[in-house]
Amino acid sequence: MAEVKEITRKLEEIHEKIKAEIPWEPVGPTPMPEMPDLRQWDMRLLKTYTPFYSPFCDLCCFCTYGKCDLTEGRRGACGIDIATQQARFILLACLMGCSAHAAHGGHILEFLIERHGPDKKIDLGTFIELEAPNIRTVVGLKPETLGDLQIALEYVFKEIAHLLDSCHTGQEGSSLDYESKALHASMLDHVGMEIADIAQIVGFDFPTSVAETPLVDMGWGAIDKSKPVILVSGHNPATSTVVIDYLREHNLEDQVEVCGLCCTARWKSAACAALHWKQPVIRTKPK
Ligand code: SF4
Repeated sequence: MAEVKEITRKLEEIHEKIKAEIPWEPVGPTPMPEMPDLRQWDMRLLKTYTPFYSPFCDLCCFCTYGKCDLTEGRRGACGIDIATQQARFILLACLMGCSAHAAHGGHILEFLIERHGPDKKIDLGTFIELEAPNIRTVVGLKPETLGDLQIALEYVFKEIAHLLDSCHTGQEGSSLDYESKALHASMLDHVGMEIADIAQIVGFDFPTSVAETPLVDMGWGAIDKSKPVILVSGHNPATSTVVIDYLREHNLEDQVEVCGLCCTARWKSAACAALHWKQPVIRTKPK
């Protein structure tokens, strides 16, 4: 009985967070799902798409009980076999990507909420009927403001902590459960990426559905090197946009060339190269 009460209270809290009283669509069976909620479905998928492991390392060095030799059916001191260790590695890899995207979204959201406030409306343009398919499907929330994106992000952060916890020694002993958790992390990654994308479009006036959106010139040749050049490298528009805003405010826009490496290209800047071209583009003096 105590358990039923707990679940009800938890669901009530979730319904409050996702504003379930707003009738945009009936609430699904698993709003803001936690690890066990979609496990059964993951297991069904994993039955059809059986994981295949081709270990890139025979050892596990994850904790001070090791190194543990996991070859020829041996188990580590914590009891895991080599398949479980491989699956744990996959989960960790998924979490690295998921947390990198979510942390980026968190940084951008913090910056934009400070600048515009949490009630800044999400408007992606006239032709967008479904603004956030991942957030709607996974979280069960129809985001209307930057503050709503914050609610979805807090959910992602919480799940990342639980998933990472399961990678600690002795927390999980089943390769299939690690695979289920990797699917969970990958699903959350799409939520985190969508949060960052929407926040950037809304907060920095990035391109929306408007057809006449100007295109950014690409490549080394697109840069006017006769001017002083500011090259912004990385993915964070919170830094690159303030450079451009400063130049505009001081009427210097035509006198300085601003370009971006990797994701940092935006309107009026030239995208000079992708990330793997960073070294050839940024020349450093030999010591
Ligand atoms: S996590 Fe387990 S298998 Fe890995 S080193 Fe520690 S005890 Fe050995």
